[in-house]
Amino acid sequence: MKLILLGAPGAGKGTQAAILAAELGIPTISTGNILRAAIKNGTPTGMKAKTYMDEGHLVPDEVIIGIITERLAESDCAKGYILDGVPRTIAQAEALEAAGIRFDHVVSLEVSDETIEERMSGRRVCEHCGASYHIKAVPPRTEGVCDVCGGKLVTRKDDAPETVKNRLAVYHRETEPLKDFYKSRGVLYPVEDMGSVEATSKAILAVLK
Ligand code: AMP
Repeated sequence: MKLILLGAPGAGKGTQAAILAAELGIPTISTGNILRAAIKNGTPTGMKAKTYMDEGHLVPDEVIIGIITERLAESDCAKGYILDGVPRTIAQAEALEAAGIRFDHVVSLEVSDETIEERMSGRRVCEHCGASYHIKAVPPRTEGVCDVCGGKLVTRKDDAPETVKNRLAVYHRETEPLKDFYKSRGVLYPVEDMGSVEATSKAILAVLK
């Protein structure tokens, strides 16, 4: 199964992707996590991406297309995968199509900008493994510590309120047109945010059946 989770930053793609990956037995590929790891490791790609990310801009398509085509060629992707945060532009979607990749479902998580802005202020991520939490909605078992790997939970620099506004504007301008792109291919499945993580997972699994 090849799946894309589409949605604004903070819509819950990372959280839902982790649940779906466990449920479906396929990996999640998040370009955001790959880029953050590259920054942490000081690689040339990471250094190139950092300034774009800190300001809430998109990393150039050619960088992303290189990262994603390389990652999808790895053996753990053979049975399928969930894409989280990619494609984010029509050019990226076209590049995946040109590589012969077709998706079974593109799930678009529908959340209002207002809700997103509220949520982002409470988001915390593990600086080691990238797992995502929310101080109220998805708290870790121990405050400030990752349930998965014991790493330290931090606030993402690009979750600052002004940067969030910028990222939402970028989403509406660059990424939202992907809904029409995949609708025209007959694979778009919009899913409303159900107010809780569990209820939204159920709604997503229902459209995948
Ligand atoms: P995310 O963790 O998916 O919210 O991504 C964090 C940041 O990484 C974004 O704001 C972009 O700067 C960059 N990024 C991640 N994925 C992509 C992508 N597919 N295209 C362009 N930039 C991306």
